[in-house]
Amino acid sequence: MTVDLRSDTVTKPTPGMLEAMWSAKVGDDVFGEDEAINELEAKAAAMFGMEAGIFCPSGTMTNQIAIKCFTQPLDELIADQTAHVYRYEGGGIAFNSAVSTRLLNGDRGRLTAEMIDPEINAENIHYPHTSLVVLENTVNKGGGSCYTLEQIAPIAELCKKQGLKLHLDGARIFNALVQTGDQAVDYGKYFDGISVCLSKGLGAPVGSVLLADKATIKYARRIRKVLGGGMRQAGFLAAAGSYALDHHVDRLKIDHEHAHILAEELAKCDWVTNVVPAETNIVLFDTEKPAEEILAKLEAQGIKANATDKHRIRFVLHLDVHPEQVEHTVKVLGSI
Ligand SMILES: *Cc1c(COP(=O)(O)O)cnc(C)c1O
Repeated sequence: MTVDLRSDTVTKPTPGMLEAMWSAKVGDDVFGEDEAINELEAKAAAMFGMEAGIFCPSGTMTNQIAIKCFTQPLDELIADQTAHVYRYEGGGIAFNSAVSTRLLNGDRGRLTAEMIDPEINAENIHYPHTSLVVLENTVNKGGGSCYTLEQIAPIAELCKKQGLKLHLDGARIFNALVQTGDQAVDYGKYFDGISVCLSKGLGAPVGSVLLADKATIKYARRIRKVLGGGMRQAGFLAAAGSYALDHHVDRLKIDHEHAHILAEELAKCDWVTNVVPAETNIVLFDTEKPAEEILAKLEAQGIKANATDKHRIRFVLHLDVHPEQVEHTVKVLGSI
């Protein structure tokens, strides 16, 4: 048995999704004529209470376009020090937007208005102009930790008061919604931009959407073109994304249950020194022995995972991990 816990990006399209892809009505999206893409953009925007959307090849691109739309060169953005936009997007903030980054030390990646407020630069020729705050929900590096909208509201209020834009890296926003019970449509009230990945837990093969107001999305189309992201008949991919939004959201709670089961088992293992509480579909844990040694033992039993540090391993649950695979993993963990 193989159990791939490396990432929720490893999922393959389901038969229903493939069917939806085959029957997609496509056209040239650079001319705005791809029906499947137009449908996905409208559907995602409506879901989150935003005016418009733009389909992109990756979450990296939607985040980077958002940052470009919400800043000017020489500005500064504020994010947690674990933020994907800073750590895992290849230095794109500096390269694409010529913007500097102020990194804060959040609670498992979560910021508060109190943390952000003193880091907003006063108007002074020496200081970069603070123009944007980026939040991540859930936080990847925080082990799937999530914000409730109640926690986000004061941050949004601060941003509005100080004239800052607020962008959400919502690569795993649906995991947060399923966990908190918040409504997607309410997110639009708080954020200027929302990036949603279709290729993570939702199980689409490729793609993310950026949501914002109409003027921002109009400019975003220009930036996407510059980045080489104008994709023509990409409706085959957008159809997979639409299908995922219709069929793969509610089932995320299964991934969260599986994460809990694995976290509970790990807590019983004497070779595990610490388990980060599993809030959503990610389990982080620390090992006494080097992580590489443990990964080799797991791999020998068909379980694939990644180390995120010398003594830290990450399990990510997703729609291609079924109950019998979780059971197998539990057995293997107990036998190490
Ligand atoms: C995966 C991910 C992204 C986007 O990644 P792509 O691989 O470019 O689609 C953005 N933010 C977070 C937190 C992620 O986990």
